[in-house]
Amino acid sequence: MEVLKITPRGYCHGVVDAFRIAKRVREETTGPVHMLGMLVHNTHATDDLQAQGIALVDQPNRLQGLEHIKEGTVIFTAHGVSPQVKERAVELGLTPVDATCSDVVRTHELVADLARKGYEVVYIGRKGHPEPEGVMGEAPGRVHLVQEPADIDALDLHGDRIAVTCQTTLSVWDTEDLIGRVRARYPQAEVYNEICRATQERQEAAVEAAKEVDVVIVVGSPRSSNSLRLVEVVKKLGHKPAYLVDRLEDLQVEWFRGAKRVGVTSGASTPTQLTRRVIEHLEALEGVTS
Ligand code: SF4
Repeated sequence: MEVLKITPRGYCHGVVDAFRIAKRVREETTGPVHMLGMLVHNTHATDDLQAQGIALVDQPNRLQGLEHIKEGTVIFTAHGVSPQVKERAVELGLTPVDATCSDVVRTHELVADLARKGYEVVYIGRKGHPEPEGVMGEAPGRVHLVQEPADIDALDLHGDRIAVTCQTTLSVWDTEDLIGRVRARYPQAEVYNEICRATQERQEAAVEAAKEVDVVIVVGSPRSSNSLRLVEVVKKLGHKPAYLVDRLEDLQVEWFRGAKRVGVTSGASTPTQLTRRVIEHLEALEGVTS
């Protein structure tokens, strides 16, 4: 089958930096090293880091996770952590290493600055994802996490100083409606779009490529927000079927019945070798499903 390799795809600068930091820490540290949650949201990358001797501490939230670490070094993941987590790590006598992506750091700074100036911040993000958890910790009680229209309807904010911003790995298209709803209720709300460039570029390329293919495969893990958004935007805006595959075995032949061309992209945390294997497998499908 003909495969269109969508670019840009795969590793972003935040993921590359996080790997580089983790590798350096493991090489230079003699004691135990932990990652507080998956360093990046990809199961293969996390398995690989564990094989290198970096233990995974995966709890429902970062503060809980810290309590499971007895000693040594703790790496804060690319998604960022709240100031409370940083303080607690020091209290526990751990050595913290911060691998937060610079784009997420910028959102933290923005939200902390807005809160200092007296703003109520409406933050569009995914409940249960570590990035909102970290950002909300910048100004507890002043940052209001919203994921769907009903969350906005339930807000009770007052005053002139209201701002709306978002998680870095959402899509412009799914934040647009929610931002519109916030502004309908609070016309004074100032909008700060924090979707990172890497996420936007991958989504735009996938939607564009969808015009030229019959189906799109997104290589990425189910916990990867940006991978899930890639599937969504292809379906919603590219009007083509799209499927998430975490491993080669997830591919199902019936997805390609009658298809002549398939587009392949991958999430920002997906290992390049894995995407290459998926591409090679699909290329070998030529003639089998036609
Ligand atoms: S997807 Fe964006 S915010 Fe997340 S690590 Fe990559 S560059 Fe940073």
